Amino acid sequence: MSRPGSIDRAPRPTRRLFTDLARWMVGLGLLAGIAFPFLATLLGLPPEEVYTPRFFGATLLAGLAVGLANYGLARGVVRPRLRLLSGRMHQVAESIGSATYSDDWSRCRPETCSVPVDSQDELGESAAAFNRLVGALMNAHEVEDAVRDFSRELSGQLELAPLAARALTQLLNHTGAQAGAVLVEQGGELNVIAGHGLEDRERLRHSDHVREALRSQALRRLELPEDIVIEALVGNLRPREVVVVPIVYQSVNLGVVVLASTRPLTGERLRLLELFQRSFGLALHNAVTYDHLERLAALDPLTGAYNRRFGLGRLHEEYQRSARTRAPLGVLMLDIDHFKAVNDTYGHLVGDRVIASTANAIRRCLREGDVLVRYGGEEFLVLLPGAGCVDAQRVAERIRHACTETPVRDGEQTIQVTISGGYTAFPEQDAGDEDALIRSADTALYAAKAGGRNRIAAGECPPSQSREPLAQGRSGA
Ligand code: GH3
Ligand code: MG
Ligand code: MG
Repeated sequence: MSRPGSIDRAPRPTRRLFTDLARWMVGLGLLAGIAFPFLATLLGLPPEEVYTPRFFGATLLAGLAVGLANYGLARGVVRPRLRLLSGRMHQVAESIGSATYSDDWSRCRPETCSVPVDSQDELGESAAAFNRLVGALMNAHEVEDAVRDFSRELSGQLELAPLAARALTQLLNHTGAQAGAVLVEQGGELNVIAGHGLEDRERLRHSDHVREALRSQALRRLELPEDIVIEALVGNLRPREVVVVPIVYQSVNLGVVVLASTRPLTGERLRLLELFQRSFGLALHNAVTYDHLERLAALDPLTGAYNRRFGLGRLHEEYQRSARTRAPLGVLMLDIDHFKAVNDTYGHLVGDRVIASTANAIRRCLREGDVLVRYGGEEFLVLLPGAGCVDAQRVAERIRHACTETPVRDGEQTIQVTISGGYTAFPEQDAGDEDALIRSADTALYAAKAGGRNRIAAGECPPSQSREPLAQGRSGA
């Protein structure tokens, strides 16, 4: 047996294997032809019949024929296989060469690059080993492709929610898990930003497994966890395996991905997950930073309300939507009464606290989807999508009451402020643009001030409707 890596050497007069083989076989055939007459006499054939030119000629010819036949057989059987193997090797080499720059691997598919394994000897083993090599190369290429696609898909996305949703879809596809969620740390809290197929995903925010994965910054595998349930078409399923993957960027925890599967995840898929983890860390870091900057740019730091610039942008969007769908849009303009006196009496810092407290009181009266804007110093604009004149008036009155019931304390003193407000609503006010709505609410605000303050006045709302007690379609505000 030859040792792997070493080649047993018969004397090699040339550098061509088949030429050497031909020489050896024909040479040995001729030697056998020469030796045969002598052997024949030992076996008892009469020498006078054997040692004749004809007999020698016949045995030499027979030896030559056997040598040539052997050579022909060896060449016919081995050479095509070696040719095929080397041809396929060339093809793989060319495919790798061109794919390095073009990313086009279509020339090398298993059926075009692998060789048939049709024997159980060293040639068959070589073919099988070659096929395994091609398989490993294709697998490496597929993994590289998947990771690159994943990174490319995420890199252009700076908005947190769509980024998390895209990443989750990809992770579910590549791991074969049926359900999952992406949780991101925001302001010291873990929030579920994207989810698919998990029952009660909000519970993950307080899960010990999630906390432990974040603390250790290491992937956690859980078998048959009791507190995680997959929603199925008929009833719910308990996952066989759940993985909790911390998303970390430069040692800073950004969040976790939770994936739940009814089948155990293979080692290959887990390794792929680790590669995705790194790309997702970078993309999530960018999105979190962008989200933070965007908030900084859009929000007023004192009140946490939208600043005027972004608020007017939102008004434009809401107005366009309402103009398209004819869905009502309520607009309030609110201003603290006699605020100069607060500043003069208690100072600007206390004045700031009064502004912040008024913003909180207003916010408590709003529902999800309503927009609070700090329009000026102590002046607020509120957008109420879905609210007609009646609802806008009702919300404005509720805010007015809330403000009077929310005094600000300064040491022993209690500062009580009131607000005045004006309201209008599209399309009851047939405003041609959003500026007309602002002007109308503003004029009403000044009417409320002129009317004695601590009151709400109607803009261009039809008076008959604005006096009706309740509007349809908006119940919670
Ligand atoms: P009115 O009832 O007519 O609204 O009377 P007012 O005193 O509230 O009058 P106005 O709304 O014109 O006064 C606004 C004052 O708010 C003027 C300005 O000094 C003060 N102000 C504006 N921005 C800020 C702020 O950020 N902090 C504080 N503390 N005061 C501010
Ligand atoms: Mg004022
Ligand atoms: Mg003012």
